[in-house]
Amino acid sequence: MTATIINGTAIGQAIRDELKAEVADLKARGVTPGLTVVIVGDDPASQMYVRMKGKAADELGMQSDTIRLPTTVSEPELLALVDRLNADPTVHGILVQSPLPKPLNFDRVVNRLGPAKDVDGFHPVNVGLVVRGDRTAFRPCTPAGVIELLVRSGVDPRGRHAVVVGRSMIVGRPVANMLLQDVPGGNATVTICHTKTTDLTRYTREADILVVAAGRPEVVSGAMIKPGAVVIDVGVNRVDDPGSEKGYRLVGDVAFAEAKDVASAITPVPGGVGPMTIAMLMKNTVQAARQALAA
Ligand code: NAP
Repeated sequence: MTATIINGTAIGQAIRDELKAEVADLKARGVTPGLTVVIVGDDPASQMYVRMKGKAADELGMQSDTIRLPTTVSEPELLALVDRLNADPTVHGILVQSPLPKPLNFDRVVNRLGPAKDVDGFHPVNVGLVVRGDRTAFRPCTPAGVIELLVRSGVDPRGRHAVVVGRSMIVGRPVANMLLQDVPGGNATVTICHTKTTDLTRYTREADILVVAAGRPEVVSGAMIKPGAVVIDVGVNRVDDPGSEKGYRLVGDVAFAEAKDVASAITPVPGGVGPMTIAMLMKNTVQAARQALAA
């Protein structure tokens, strides 16, 4: 079997195209959705993600700002900035890029965000409301992107066994919860695996839908996948590749070359979940602006 490749770049673009019309409609009603990204320090990967987010917002015609702060910024200064952004009616979404350099505490900073502007979906109020199934809350972007990929690829998790490898607050736990909810894109029977799971293969081999967010290069081999399963690979890992121009290449948490011969559908890395994360951030920002207008 050769799997269908689930093209996150194309699906992400389709979402952005839909959002363009929504942004235009909001602008006609006097509101330009505004996203402000705050980044502290000069971590190259974080800088790249922030540039991509700003570019995506610009392309949609949103108001996009990036506030770059030095690593010397104190936590009270950062919290004061968050307060100022919370109070600014032109800012609908605020994103604090993680990780924050030490000794800054990411959770304390996120907890200071107004939940109505927390478009990353990490504030405890949004975490709780999403678990309750409240659709006005902001779903974290990567897990929401995984669900959207499934739905738009015609994969209905209803009644199927979904196995999630990873239990982080950013990916594993929320995606498992979303797969469980009684809504389109949910209604799966869900198993969550982590490093204390004994015999990971026993579970992955039973998955009709396998979502892997372990942060370990190619930890899931082809032999660990049930023939015909749908595989969503969230992982992004750099591995040394002296033969390549950059000296490294990106691989997922799934051994793609083997997996594509076993699965019925699979996301590639790059070009799978990654582009969905940014598309869902844009969607959340438009939602924030719409909800602010209605408030
Ligand atoms: P994380 O915080 O490191 O969590 C990894 C999870 O996987 C943990 O729960 C860990 O279990 C579990 N795990 C690790 N090795 C395992 C193994 N061998 N067997 C079973 N479980 C294992 O990582 P994360 O933030 O969730 O990210 C996961 C991956 O997704 C990373 O590669 C990251 O770069 C990528 N990611 C991509 C995007 C995107 O936009 N494409 C966004 C976010 C993250 P324990 O809890 O027991 O330690």
